[in-house]
Amino acid sequence: MPIDPTTAQSWLFVPPLDLPLTLRVENGRFGALRRAPLAEPPPCATGQVIPADDPFNPTGAEVHYVNQLHEAVDLAASAGDCVFAAYSGRVVELETNPAGTKGNVTIDHHPQGLGFVTKYNHVTDVLVAEGAFIQKGMPFAAVSAEPAEPHLHFELWAVVDRDTADASWPGDSDLVPVDPTRTLYAWEQRTAADEEPAGGPLAPQSIGLVRLNTVPFFSAAFATGTLYVPMYEPMTADERLAIDLLRDAYRSTVNATLRYRSSSFWGVDVITQVQLVD
Ligand SMILES: [Zn+2]
Repeated sequence: MPIDPTTAQSWLFVPPLDLPLTLRVENGRFGALRRAPLAEPPPCATGQVIPADDPFNPTGAEVHYVNQLHEAVDLAASAGDCVFAAYSGRVVELETNPAGTKGNVTIDHHPQGLGFVTKYNHVTDVLVAEGAFIQKGMPFAAVSAEPAEPHLHFELWAVVDRDTADASWPGDSDLVPVDPTRTLYAWEQRTAADEEPAGGPLAPQSIGLVRLNTVPFFSAAFATGTLYVPMYEPMTADERLAIDLLRDAYRSTVNATLRYRSSSFWGVDVITQVQLVD
C-alpha cells in the first residue's frame, strides 16, 4: 500500500552535518563490502576464513567471518561537530555504550507522511529523549570522539508495508535501505562555486576511467591538471553529457571551455560544465 503524505510537510532533506560534507574514504560508501568476524567457528564448512598466516589476521588463530554490506554512508567529521535531523520526526531509539561516550539515535519520519527512518551512529551528548519530536535541521547530538577517526555513520531507510508494521515503530521487514549519497552530494552542488581553468579552452591530453576510494570516476587530463566526473549511480544527465563531450574533445582534438569545482565530498576536482569550441 502506498504511503500517502498526510501533511504539507516539506520533503527537503537537511544534511546531518555542517557543510562541506566529506564522504569518508576507504569503505565508507553505501554498499561497501565489509567482513565481520564470527565469535566462534560455524558448525559447517566455509571458505570464509582468514588463515593464520594472512597479514589481515594478526592473532595467529583462524578467523571466521561473514560478509556484510555497509548500508550507510560514513561522513568525515571532528569530535564535537553538531549532528542535525535530516527530516522532522520522532526519536524512536537511543542506544549508548556503558560508558556513555558513544551511541546511536534513530528517528522515525513516517508519521509525518514521510516514508523514511534515519539513523545516526557514533554520536554523543544526545539532547533528545526517546519519544521526543524533533524538527528537521535541529542539532540534537555531537559526533563522538570514538571511533578513533571520528565520523558520522548515517543510514536512510524507506518504510514499506505500513499496514503490517507496528503502529509506533516499523520492524526490520518493513525497512529497505536507501543510498543517501546523491542527496548528500546535492548539497555541495547547491553551495560550492565553479571555477575555470587558467589559460582558456583546452583539449584533454588523455581520458580514462579510474576508481578513487572505491568510487568510479571518468578522468580527463589537461595541461593544467586532471579533472573528474563522478560515475556514481544514478548519474545525472549533466554528468553523462560532460563525459560524451570530453570524449569527443579528446578524439577530435577539439578545445573545450570548462567549469569545475573543488569537491570536498569526493575529494577531487569535478567538472560541472563542458562546451566544445569550434
Ligand atoms: Zn559506517
